[in-house]
Amino acid sequence: MGRWVEVGDRAWVRRHAELDLSLGLVAGDRACLVVDTGADETQGAAFAKAVRELTGLPWSVVVTHAHFDHAFGTAAFGHRPVFGHPGCRAALAGTGEAQRATWAEHYRREGRPEAAERIAAARIVPPGRTVTGTAELDLGGRLVRLVHPGPGHTDHDLVVHVPDSGLVFAGDLVEEGAPPSFGDAFPQAWPSALDLVLALGARTVVPGHGEPVDAAFVTRQRAELAEVAALCRAVATGALPPAEALARSPYPEDFTTEALARPTTTTTT
Ligand SMILES: [Zn+2]
Repeated sequence: MGRWVEVGDRAWVRRHAELDLSLGLVAGDRACLVVDTGADETQGAAFAKAVRELTGLPWSVVVTHAHFDHAFGTAAFGHRPVFGHPGCRAALAGTGEAQRATWAEHYRREGRPEAAERIAAARIVPPGRTVTGTAELDLGGRLVRLVHPGPGHTDHDLVVHVPDSGLVFAGDLVEEGAPPSFGDAFPQAWPSALDLVLALGARTVVPGHGEPVDAAFVTRQRAELAEVAALCRAVATGALPPAEALARSPYPEDFTTEALARPTTTTTT
């Protein structure tokens, strides 16, 4: 269940075939930080065990956003600090049970009742340490920054910046191997969020799904997202028929359809 890829000095990503998910780990001299926890407690426990193959240091957890595949494994990490944006806390409280029902049903329909049961059984752990703008964590001889770059993939994404390794864990603000996902997104704000991520100057960016990428990849994805944002604006003002937006979009119809259904303001509710 997963394989480690080293992405910097004492920094790794755990790659999973399921959902092409990427979970992170950064270690200092005294502590380590786990970035996202997986889709259920079984996956979380397997990830925790894999972390222990690399380090025995005490961990804390950061949840990049409230989507089940990033957040539902947190209980497997026990009573340790869990960092997240206040909006992540609110979203887990507000949508956690609906996500559970939707995805359990999805896996049952796919003929995967064990996956459905694991999601049904997961205890949802909201972040107890909330980060609104930026926070610095001292892992022992190593500072790691948690940054909320504004709305994008959700209204509460947090990225993890490891300055001494030129590394950013970007959650689902960046996706490799599949288009970005717009279900809870703010398409008008997303390009600016990626501008802030790019301004961190990382050489390596770990997406929430897919393989680690470089800044040039993020720049290209930012341009595609800006195209989608422009198409959404044009449809909202009546300047462009939705079918034309779907045809012009850099992304498949189902992704663009979700983007078109999202607010055209950059402010979150
Ligand atoms: Zn997500």
